[in-house]
Amino acid sequence: MSEDDRNTRHAARMARKKAHVDAVIAAAQAERGLLVVLTGNGKGKSSSAFGMVARALGHGMKVGVVQFIKARTDTGEEAFLGKHAEWHITGDGFTWDTQDRERDIATAQRGWAIAARMLADPSYQLVVLDELTYLLSYGYLDADSVLDALAHRPPMQHVVVTGRGASEALTELADTVSVIADAKHAFRTGVKAQPGIDL
Ligand code: ATP
Ligand code: MG
Repeated sequence: MSEDDRNTRHAARMARKKAHVDAVIAAAQAERGLLVVLTGNGKGKSSSAFGMVARALGHGMKVGVVQFIKARTDTGEEAFLGKHAEWHITGDGFTWDTQDRERDIATAQRGWAIAARMLADPSYQLVVLDELTYLLSYGYLDADSVLDALAHRPPMQHVVVTGRGASEALTELADTVSVIADAKHAFRTGVKAQPGIDL
């Protein structure tokens, strides 16, 4: 095939593709608050959520973030985005750090009270509930109340939930679910968590 033929075929194929993509985009007209769940064992859940925080802030939206597990307050995301978003670090460390179930439950409930307030307030246009899934899988929060609060939030409010092991019920309720796979992680070759990449 000559180079000219190749270019002509490419142009025809792209025209067909454009018609298809344009039709699909034109058909998607709904606008409403979305529940996005980022789960799986791979890296990229929280950092993706914070990417959406940056986007929302760029549009002048009001953003709330609750970090349920992490206790550290020296992360780049909080230092930078926390200047513009309402940022709560309610965690106490991982369960294997605290080793105190009753304290973990009390901590979880304190964090959830903040989240529940945001989920009831339409002025928050994006709410990130980072690592919420663990509180559900450990049974620290009542799953039905959490799902109910998510389901009955203000209709235009977006919520992003992160954490491994999202339940079927949460997946069912969500509009967009990404399961991030762990194909490789530097940690397993002895590299520690580094600023800019991990915190
Ligand atoms: P990130 O915040 O980098 O997007 P994450 O939210 O997907 O990560 P978490 O389970 O919250 O993942 O992990 C937080 C920390 O653990 C980060 O430092 C991250 O790089 C690291 N991490 C994530 N996935 C893995 C993995 N599969 N193996 C080892 N460390 C991981
Ligand atoms: Mg995370």
